[in-house]
Amino acid sequence: MRYISTRGTAPILSFEEAMLTGLARDGGLYVPETIPTLSRQDIAAMSGQSYEEVAFTVMRPFIGDTFTDAEFRQLIAQAYASIGHDARAPLVELAPNHFLLELFHGPTLAFKDFAIQLIGQMFQLALGRKNERVTIVGATSGDTGSAAIEAFKGLDNVDVFILYPHGRVSEVQRRQMTTPPEDNVHALAVDGDFDDCQARLKDMFNDFEFRDGVRLAGVNSINWGRVLAQVVYYFTSAVSLGAPGREISFTVPTGNFGDIFAGYIAKRMGLPIADLVVATNQNDILHRCLSGEGYHKGTVHPSISPSMDIQVSSNFERALFDAYGRDGGAVAQLMNELGQGGFEVSQGAMQALQGLYRSGRASEAETSATITDMLARTGELLCPHSAIGVKVANDLRDPKVPMVTLATAHPAKFPDAVEAATGIRPPLPARMADLYDRSERLTRVPNDVETLMTHIKGNIRA
Ligand SMILES: *Cc1c(COP(=O)(O)O)cnc(C)c1O
Repeated sequence: MRYISTRGTAPILSFEEAMLTGLARDGGLYVPETIPTLSRQDIAAMSGQSYEEVAFTVMRPFIGDTFTDAEFRQLIAQAYASIGHDARAPLVELAPNHFLLELFHGPTLAFKDFAIQLIGQMFQLALGRKNERVTIVGATSGDTGSAAIEAFKGLDNVDVFILYPHGRVSEVQRRQMTTPPEDNVHALAVDGDFDDCQARLKDMFNDFEFRDGVRLAGVNSINWGRVLAQVVYYFTSAVSLGAPGREISFTVPTGNFGDIFAGYIAKRMGLPIADLVVATNQNDILHRCLSGEGYHKGTVHPSISPSMDIQVSSNFERALFDAYGRDGGAVAQLMNELGQGGFEVSQGAMQALQGLYRSGRASEAETSATITDMLARTGELLCPHSAIGVKVANDLRDPKVPMVTLATAHPAKFPDAVEAATGIRPPLPARMADLYDRSERLTRVPNDVETLMTHIKGNIRA
């Protein structure tokens, strides 16, 4: 399996190279050259299988000869042993034909653990056997950073630096990043918003001297490995609701478009998905774009769902690449225009996107009201991101088609918003109950790439 860049001019890479590289050298994102498909029988055979078995079947065709089958099974087993639920991604029924896919039983209580725990295992094996090291730098609106620190802390071959927007993450998110004592872990509080963090990260990847000097690697969802691991739970949940014998729809609380893009890949692989619904908060660039208004950056308005406070959605580039018939030149042109503020989507590409994705948004008041309402109707306590999904799913779903809404974080990760809506302060799971007592370690940094690069060079163990 070979990987090509969405901007058409970077070297073609293997799975291992694409995973260790992150961003392509032409500024694009890596995607598989072709999407493998699974037969109806392959999918039917997943019924009753463990999460790990399905994960192997779904991901195996994408990894080429990077790992042997035995190695890959072992990596999967180790990654998902960290998820504190035997089903890994259990489904809960909210209403007739509406289901919640709980993706928050991992070590940092958000769905990011599903991909990053596996990436941590894959990096460790790939680097260890070559006796190489990397510097991982990640930008986070809160959950990628905590998941990455959890997956990479203490590893010999990796130093990890996480850029998060100062004052704009929840206290639980911040503490998950600042309390691990391992000295290869560095939490950097940037004076800016998440888009600034993501832009500085891209600046570092585009500075080839720095990039090669520190052996920069990325674990943001620009990394194909992230998207790939997220394809699995579309299969496990759809099969448990009757796929491939019936169509299933999904609603996905969306920010960087990684999770919903994984759903698109599942569909391309042959999973019968009816609707893929993008749910945004008030930072609704994706909803506006999918409604035909073009893709124009605004300013980020901080919300009670901070992990979705994004204006530049990096994986949307992968969706555009396919919508423009895999024309890397066209995508490079759009991304240039985005640098100046935004772009219009061509009519043909818009038709392709609207044929694949539906969308809706939830205001702050609607998000809170949904948390209150779902507690009363179902006893289920939703985090604000998951509540946005439920609200939009309720607006758009066809009652005759099973709808799966992805619950992307545990309510205890956002206790203030949940308490404000319900009066209940959700407790942390017992395994992390002392999080508020641990001491914190972080560095405040300006929103300036030179300062950041100097800091990173000065703090890697190398
Ligand atoms: C990251 C995140 C999202 C958005 O996921 P994308 O893949 O960036 O679209 C939604 N909810 C939570 C809790 C998250 O951590």
